[in-house]
This record gives sequence, C-alpha cells and structure tokens, in this order.
Amino acid sequence: MDCAWGGIEAGGTNFLLAVGSGPGALRAEESFPTTTPTETVARAVQFFKKQGGKKGLTAIGIASFGPVDPNVSSQKYGFITSTPKKGWAQFNFAGFIQREIDVPVVFDTDVNGAALAEYKWGAAQGLDNFIYLTIGTGIGGGGMMNGKLMHGLIHPEMGHIPIPHDWLADSFKGSCPYHGDCLEGLASGPALEQRWGIKPSNLPVEHPAWELEAHYVAQAITTYIYTLSPQRILLAGGVMEQTQLFPMIRHKVQDFLNAYIQAPEILAEIEQYIVPPKLGKKAGVLGAIALAQKLKL
Ligand code: ADP
Ligand code: ZN
Repeated sequence: MDCAWGGIEAGGTNFLLAVGSGPGALRAEESFPTTTPTETVARAVQFFKKQGGKKGLTAIGIASFGPVDPNVSSQKYGFITSTPKKGWAQFNFAGFIQREIDVPVVFDTDVNGAALAEYKWGAAQGLDNFIYLTIGTGIGGGGMMNGKLMHGLIHPEMGHIPIPHDWLADSFKGSCPYHGDCLEGLASGPALEQRWGIKPSNLPVEHPAWELEAHYVAQAITTYIYTLSPQRILLAGGVMEQTQLFPMIRHKVQDFLNAYIQAPEILAEIEQYIVPPKLGKKAGVLGAIALAQKLKL
C-alpha cells in the first residue's frame, strides 16, 4: 500500500518536483528555474531516477504552464502547444517523461492541477463546481464543473477575457501581447508593474493601484459567476499576496451583481465564497501528484 507518485509543477519561471502521496507525505522535493526544455526536463528525469524511477513510482503527474493539449484522445496530448516561451512550443512534455521513466503520465494545466489538489485536500473540498484563478505573471483559471476538471475544446483561458477598460481612471493600454487590454493585460503582475512603474510588491497598501486591481478582478469574477455559476472561487498567485484585495474584490463583486444572483453564499457569506487557497505555494506540485493519483481511481 505504500504507493509513491511523482509530481511536476511546470511553471514558466520555476519547476517544482516532488515524490509522495499528499500534504505532509512528500518524501523528496526539488525546485529549479525553467530554462530550455532539454535542460529542465532532463533535470526532472534525473530527479525521478534518483527516487527509484519505474521501481519507485506508480505514475507521474504534470501540471504545466500552457497553452497545452490536455485532451487524452488527441495526438498532441501532453504537448505544450503555442507558447512564446523559447524552445517550448510543440514540446511533447508528457511523452518525453513517459519514455524516460517508463511509468504512466497524467497531464493537465497548472491551474487544473492546483484546483484538484484544493479539491482533495484544501479549500474546495466537497464542491463539484468551483474556479481556481491565479493572478501572477499571467492570469490563468481552471477548476471543476460537475465534478470534473474543466476541459473542452482545449482548456479554459480565463485570463484572456475582455473586460470593460476604465479609460477615465486608467490610461494604461494593457500588456497582453495578443489582446492588449484583456484581463491579463490589465491586472497581471507585469501589467501592474508597467502601469505604475514599480514592482507590485513595493506598492503601498493604500496605493490606488489596488482599488483599480480589485475593480478589474471583480469584473472578471462577475462574468465567471454569471457564466459558470461556481460554488466557490479560489484566488491564488503572487498578486493575491496583497491580502487587502480580498475584501475589496468581495464588495465590488456584490456591487456588480446587485443582488441579482439570490444565493446566500454571495449575499451573506461572501467571505467563504471568494477565498485564498489552503495549500498555498504547494498547491501546484500537490496537484501534479493528485493528477497522477487519478489513475488509481
Ligand atoms: P508565476 O505567475 O510566475 O507562477 P507568481 O504567482 O508568484 O508566479 O506571480 C509572480 C507575479 O506576482 C510577479 O509579476 C510579481 O511582481 C507579482 N507579485 C509577487 N509577489 C507579490 C506581492 N507580494 N504583491 C504583489 N505582487 C506580487
Ligand atoms: Zn490576452
């Protein structure tokens, strides 16, 4: 019964690896910067070989930055597809790991991985419909609908939705290379840094940047509530370390909805409706392990 699973949280900035079976049950962990696929993925292979390789591992899960192909029936399942990140476009990530370690590999987006970990062990336990949104270098969203991780044509790209741009309060044109002022272009960490000319972690708590940030994030959340009807929304990522944003976002979401959605979760219990994740920075790598464990279900 002592199964061990491998997990890879593949971020655009760092890779996090672990072997184990859940929170408090990780027997090895390692992290290093994301460089070229050859170098980075070779380090991951080395790590898993040191952990016993095929003999020591039941399966490996990968929760990856994207866009990716998460469709198991696709020829490109497990590929990173169209990223502008040098060397990674069209990289057969899952295939490479599977060939090298020779165990089954389960592959999904970083946000779906983190969402699954929060569902099993964290802030989304018992919920069949929820969203996990990360606001960091980019903005990405995943989660579950009807008890299944969100997939579809490809996978959701919640960071790139258009939202009303408040040109009167905000003349910044947006930082998304594809869409300019989509949500990510207006509200990601790099957008904050470009708009205000200072690292967002150095912006004071009372700076107007946070009012505007809460406004944009609340607009997006309002759209997600109307279109997906989630039972809870988890907000993660570097920018959400500004915890003053939580009450600001909650109030604005209530204002925008204007009591149209008659749910006590929103009208009276919004502190438990829009929440931080419970697993913090471990959500991604635990999510990768949780993905691998899906094979045992
Ligand atoms: P990534 O998105 O690269 O996986 P993070 O979720 O940590 O990583 O997000 C990094 C982004 O969050 C950067 O743009 C950074 O400026 C911003 N950030 C990190 N810490 C803070 C903080 N305490 N307050 C506001 N922004 C932060
Ligand atoms: Zn965009």
